[in-house]
Amino acid sequence: MKTELKERMQELRDLASLVELAQWDQDTYMPKKGAEGRGAALGTLKSLYHQRLVDPYLGEWLDAPDAQGFDEDAMVRVLRRERSLATKVPERLVRALAEAGAAGLAAWKRARDEQRFGTFAPALEHTVRLRREYADALGTGDERYDALLDAYEPGMRSARLAPVFSELQAVLVPLVQAIEARPKPVDVFGGKTWADAAQWAFTMELLPAVGFDLDAGRQDRSVHPFSSGQSVGDVRLTTRVSLDTPLPAIFGTLHEAGHGLFEQGFAPKDFRTPLAQSPSLGLHESQSRLWENLVGRSLPFWKHHLPRLRRHFPSELDGVDVETFWKAVNRVERTFIRVEADEVTYNLHVILRFQIERALLRGELDVKDVDAAWNEKTRTLLGLTVQRAADGALQDVHWAWGDFGYFPTYTLGNLYGASLFAAAQRALPNLWVDVERGDCSALLRWLRATVHHAGYRWSTEALIEKVTGRGLVVDDFAAYVRQKYGALYGL
Ligand code: ZN
Repeated sequence: MKTELKERMQELRDLASLVELAQWDQDTYMPKKGAEGRGAALGTLKSLYHQRLVDPYLGEWLDAPDAQGFDEDAMVRVLRRERSLATKVPERLVRALAEAGAAGLAAWKRARDEQRFGTFAPALEHTVRLRREYADALGTGDERYDALLDAYEPGMRSARLAPVFSELQAVLVPLVQAIEARPKPVDVFGGKTWADAAQWAFTMELLPAVGFDLDAGRQDRSVHPFSSGQSVGDVRLTTRVSLDTPLPAIFGTLHEAGHGLFEQGFAPKDFRTPLAQSPSLGLHESQSRLWENLVGRSLPFWKHHLPRLRRHFPSELDGVDVETFWKAVNRVERTFIRVEADEVTYNLHVILRFQIERALLRGELDVKDVDAAWNEKTRTLLGLTVQRAADGALQDVHWAWGDFGYFPTYTLGNLYGASLFAAAQRALPNLWVDVERGDCSALLRWLRATVHHAGYRWSTEALIEKVTGRGLVVDDFAAYVRQKYGALYGL
């Protein structure tokens, strides 16, 4: 590979890692009054990155690569894609979208205060118009929504997703109805105070227990948990502690640890190249959901970890046996709010958003009718009647920012995660015995070898097919939830 091209790739990765670090600090330790200075510094870093990316020399090097071998081809392909996205959108539109995002956020906050969707609608209307323009500028796929989807999930298309989501809906709606008809599990968390320091200490024990390397990463606190990878040797996670219940801290930590294990698992030889990243948000999310739900909400996992949690909370967990605890952390309940949803109902919230977003981009739904459509779909999918706009179309901040096409990656993460885990169970006959002994290392080694080391060499679906023998399917997730919740709720 041309030396200049290689050096430019490394330079871009270095700049990107500094942007990550500055953003991590902004969300964790930066004093309030640092916002202005940090905003300016980040703006400069990002525009430097953009200039170096759209630089015509880079275009020439990429178009005439003397690349040899698959890895170098893959690097060229990944960087060429990123560069093409960055050059297709006119600067005027980038600025307009940023301004619309700021105005959208303000209007969304006002609308939530007033509990009135109409207050948000004009700003949303403007954002949707700009997003249509943006999609046209990118020109990816067969319909506008494809271009937005592709930005987060390269290669994914609406026409591919729609039947998958319909199939999933047909599995979940009756399953949720059946669960609703059964008695609720005992709530072992409510009405108690869960000490902050003890929760924190337990989450710091969980991280090494699942294989997260604390010499190559750390955990801090933030309002909204996230993970951020500067390099394989420096991966930052955050979690959130609530005194009413230990669940957000425990499962937030496991979720972000899943993201973090992926970031720590990129092949060392890919350091400072475009290959040291996930090929999509959906694949990244498959790792977080796998550790949070398939491992972290399993009975064997808690057979090992409940006694350890009990050491921190002897009186709060007095008399709570492992079965009761396991049932309590897998409580399924129809709720209005996506971020509070369990792993069964969660996907119904995503399907609702996908249908509305796609219809908006196609011009089949007017912005003024969004909240009515939302409420109608909440009835069909979840059987609930929305009373307050904040429980309906005003609940997520994403549309205010102008993010469309992002939500489906959460459900893709659930589907890919279940398929990967099914493959892991076939490959590792002792998986559950190991987990029950508190040993997750064989599973992590398997994920490293099949998913993490691959980085961005293949598209997500190609990788999933290599590992599982099939691409995107509903069956594995459907089998998982039917079996697990069948046992939990006696269906
Ligand atoms: Zn996540």
